[in-house]
Amino acid sequence: MFTNDALIEKVDEMNIRMRVIMLTMLEIERHYLLEKGMAKKLNSFEEATPGIKLEETSKQAELESGKVKDLEKTLELTHVTGYAAREFAKLGLNPGELAIVSKESVAPYERPALSKGYLFPQDAARLPGFHVCVGSGGERLLPAWYSEKGSLPLVIIPSLLLDGIELMLNTEIVKADLASKTLTSETDVNFKYDNLVIATGSQFVNLSDVGVQGANANNIFYLRDIDDADKLVAAIQSKKGGKAVIVGGGYIGLELGAALKINSFDVTMVYPDPWCMPRLFTPEIASFYEGYYAKKGIKIVKGTVATGFDSNSIGDVTAVRLKDGQILEADIVVVGVGGKPLVTLYKGQVNEEKGGIKTDGFFRTSISDVYAVGDVATFPLKLYGEDRRVEHVDHARRSAEHAVKAIKAAEESRSIEEYDYLPYFYSRVFDLSWQFYGDNVGDTVLFGDNDPKSANPKFGAYWIKDGKVVGAFLESGSPEENKLIAKVAKLQPPVQDLEQLREDGLTFASNV
Ligand SMILES: Cc1cc2nc3c(=O)[nH]c(=O)nc-3n(C[C@H](O)[C@H](O)[C@H](O)COP(=O)(O)OP(=O)(O)OC[C@H]3O[C@@H](n4cnc5c(N)ncnc54)[C@H](O)[C@@H]3O)c2cc1C
Repeated sequence: MFTNDALIEKVDEMNIRMRVIMLTMLEIERHYLLEKGMAKKLNSFEEATPGIKLEETSKQAELESGKVKDLEKTLELTHVTGYAAREFAKLGLNPGELAIVSKESVAPYERPALSKGYLFPQDAARLPGFHVCVGSGGERLLPAWYSEKGSLPLVIIPSLLLDGIELMLNTEIVKADLASKTLTSETDVNFKYDNLVIATGSQFVNLSDVGVQGANANNIFYLRDIDDADKLVAAIQSKKGGKAVIVGGGYIGLELGAALKINSFDVTMVYPDPWCMPRLFTPEIASFYEGYYAKKGIKIVKGTVATGFDSNSIGDVTAVRLKDGQILEADIVVVGVGGKPLVTLYKGQVNEEKGGIKTDGFFRTSISDVYAVGDVATFPLKLYGEDRRVEHVDHARRSAEHAVKAIKAAEESRSIEEYDYLPYFYSRVFDLSWQFYGDNVGDTVLFGDNDPKSANPKFGAYWIKDGKVVGAFLESGSPEENKLIAKVAKLQPPVQDLEQLREDGLTFASNV
C-alpha cells in the first residue's frame, strides 16, 4: 500500500494536481483530530469517509510548510447536486475534487416523484428507479456512479479507495464558518472546502412550530424527503380506506389529495384561500381543478384553517378542528402549508434577499467561492429585470448546472453568459397534467374547454402585461404544444385584441 507521502508524490508526478485534493483535505482534518486527541470525532470522521484509513503519523511539518494549503475543493449540500455532479463530470472532474454532503440516507433523487409515483397503490416508483437525472430525461446516476466517476485507475493506487465523487450521506452540517471555509457536521467533523455550493433547499412549515394545538399527534404527515414519504406510505397501508384530511391547497395539498384518493381514502381538503393554488392559478383555472376533484369525490372546505387536532389514547389523530367550528374526522392528516428556504446556517455571513441567499447571475454569493442554487438562491431573473427566488425543480437543476459552469470557467479564467431563465413549473394529478412558463402577472385570457365534467377537458391561459404575452399555462398539452407555450412566454409577442387571443387559443402560440 502506498503511504500518503508516496501517493501525493506519485500523483504530483503525473501532474494531476486535483487528484490529491480530497485525500489531502481529509488528511488535514485527520491530523487536526489526532492532534487534538479527539478519538470520538476521529471515529466519526472515519465513518464519514469510508475507504480512507487513518494512521497515527504527524503531517504537521507538511501543513506548516504550506504544502497542503493550496487546495481546491468543492463541497455541496443538496439533492440537485446530482445535476451539479453530472455537469462537473462533463466539464472535467478529477477524483477527490468534489464531495456531496447530505443529511439524507440515499443518493440524489428526483424529489417531485415523492408526491406522485411514490404514492401509487400499484407499481409505485421506488429507488433506484428515480435517482437523478431521470426527471429531465437524462442518465440515472446510481450510487456507484459517484465513486466511479473520474476514479484513479487502480494501477496507480491499488489498495486505496479514492472516490471520484465523495458522497457523504447521513451527514448533517450544523455549522458553517465561511470565513475559515469550514463546515462542521453534527458529529463534530470539520470539512474544509475551496468552493462551496449551498443547495440546502426548503423545509416545510410545521404546524407545531406555529402553535397549532395537538399538531404533534401521530399520523399527521409532512412531505419533503424520502423518509417522510416512507412514513406516509406505511400509514396509507395501515389506514387503508380511512378518512384523510389535507391541510393546504397548494402544490403539496393538491398532489397529496389526489394521491390519497387514488389510495381509496375518503379525502377532505381544507384551505383558507378562496381558490386553490392562488399563487399561480386564476379563479377560472382553479375552478376546473376544484370541479375535477369534486367529481372524483374529494370534498373541499375553503375559507378556513385548521386550529387544532384531536387524538385518541394512543396518540393517533382522530379529528381536525377548523376555525369556522367544523370538526373533520381523520385517520391521516397531510399538511402542506408552505415551505421556507434553509438558510439559517449562513445567516449574517452572506447577503440575503427575499428570504433567500442573494446571488449574481452566476449563483455567486457575496462571499467569494461560495455559491447558492435551487430553492435557497435569490438570483437576478434577467428576463424580468428583478431578483427572484424560485422553488421549482427545473430551476434547481439548471441553476446547479450553471453554478458548476461558472466555477469551472473561473478556474480556467474564462467567462460565461449570465443565467437567463424562463420560469417553468408543472404538476400531475390523476390523469391530468399541466405546465406553466413565464410570469403570472397582468391580465389573463382563458381559452379552451375548462369544464371539469367534459370527457376530455383541455384548456390554457395567457398572462398579458404591457401589451405582451408574458406567461402561458396549458392543461393536457402534448409535448409539442407545451413547447409552443414555452416559446410564447420566452418571446413575449405583442397582443392587441384579448378577445381574439381567447378565440385563437393555441393557434396563437403556433403562429409565434
Ligand atoms: C414532495 C415534493 C414534490 C415536488 N414536486 C414538484 C413538481 O412537481 N414540480 C416542480 O417544479 N417542483 C416540485 N417540487 C419542488 C422541487 O422539488 C424543489 O424546488 C427542488 O427539490 C429544490 O432543490 P434543492 O436542491 O434546492 O433542494 P432540495 O431538493 O430540498 O435538497 C436539499 C437537500 O439538502 C439537504 N440538507 C438540507 N440541510 C442540510 C444540512 N444542514 N446538512 C446536510 N444536508 C442538508 C436536504 O436533506 C436535501 O437532501 C416538489 C417538492 C417536494 C418536496
